[in-house]
Amino acid sequence: MGNVELEQLREQLDDVNLKLLELINKRAELVQEIGNVKKVQGVNRFDPVRERDMLDLIAEKNEGPFETSTLQHIFKEIFKASLELQEDDHRKALLVSRKKQSENTIVTIKGETVGDGIQRVIAGPCSVESYDQVNEVAKAIKKQGLKFLRGGAYKPRTSPYDFQGLGEEGLKILKQIGDELDLAVISEIVTPNDIEKALDYIDVIQIGARNMQNFELLKAAGSVNKPVLLKRGLSATIEEFINAAEYIISNGNGQIMLCERGIRTYEKATRNTLDISAVPILKKETHLPVAVDVTHSTGRRDLLLPTAKAALAIGADIVMAEVHPDPAVALSDSAQQMDIEQFEHFMDELRASGLYKDVTKSSAV
Ligand code: PEP
Ligand code: MN
Repeated sequence: MGNVELEQLREQLDDVNLKLLELINKRAELVQEIGNVKKVQGVNRFDPVRERDMLDLIAEKNEGPFETSTLQHIFKEIFKASLELQEDDHRKALLVSRKKQSENTIVTIKGETVGDGIQRVIAGPCSVESYDQVNEVAKAIKKQGLKFLRGGAYKPRTSPYDFQGLGEEGLKILKQIGDELDLAVISEIVTPNDIEKALDYIDVIQIGARNMQNFELLKAAGSVNKPVLLKRGLSATIEEFINAAEYIISNGNGQIMLCERGIRTYEKATRNTLDISAVPILKKETHLPVAVDVTHSTGRRDLLLPTAKAALAIGADIVMAEVHPDPAVALSDSAQQMDIEQFEHFMDELRASGLYKDVTKSSAV
């Protein structure tokens, strides 16, 4: 007997669900019609006064058993979903999204491509300290058949008393060495005012982790014709990271590379926690090339090689690592930079691993 009753109640419930379904969709159609009328009239679709009236009416008519606050919450969700139905396409699919562009964005930097399936290594000292220091690293990069030299001229340091970088002088050193050795140079810019100046010196503008949500800087980088390497914020979610890239592309510059550089967690064995799964997520969600900075994510020299292998294996377009002629006396990040010999070993091991899809070397051999 009980079973029959249960069956009947369930049937009634299914019936009500279907009626709700029909009503919710009917409501959505009405909202769309209202949206069209408003469009013709040129008025805003979202009307908070009208929403308040609708919520008040629900409060007035509610006879339970649901609490009014519960019902208002449910209705608010329905209002939101209906409004989203009418939103413009750019709100539904971000410009950086794979839904917007299915093919990979290929960024061209001084004649070299990134994002086309060939994996790249970016190396260089944490800070530009002198011509000789950068030159020594640049020659090692050149010797490896690599094309990208990175060095910091403006260093956003946690302590104001730490070395802040050589500034424009550092950019000049990078430019000179880039020209002499035909390397593309990458450097971090920390203020919107310096973006224009940077165009004369560098091939890629890096936006650092601490500036990932410096929206004025993102807009400035978005309004120039220069590739941007955008690093993930210290505690940024992937969604926030993607939105930071959206700031750049929506201002006109689509030449963006995303860089996973570790996130802050409770773990103390490494400087940050390398979020390796961010790589396939970013590759799936966006059409932009993805880099992994093994230096800042681990903060440990002994982890550079295994994490670089992981990055290559999981499909990163770029591995980035810091190299200094004498890390012990480096003005920043001395504990984690490789010296030249360690860098050569690092490159040899990457090649030997078979994980590194490197056209530069394999075609030269
Ligand atoms: C850097 O790349 O030099 C740097 C400071 O890294 P991050 O912004 O990721 O901390
Ligand atoms: Mn560094």
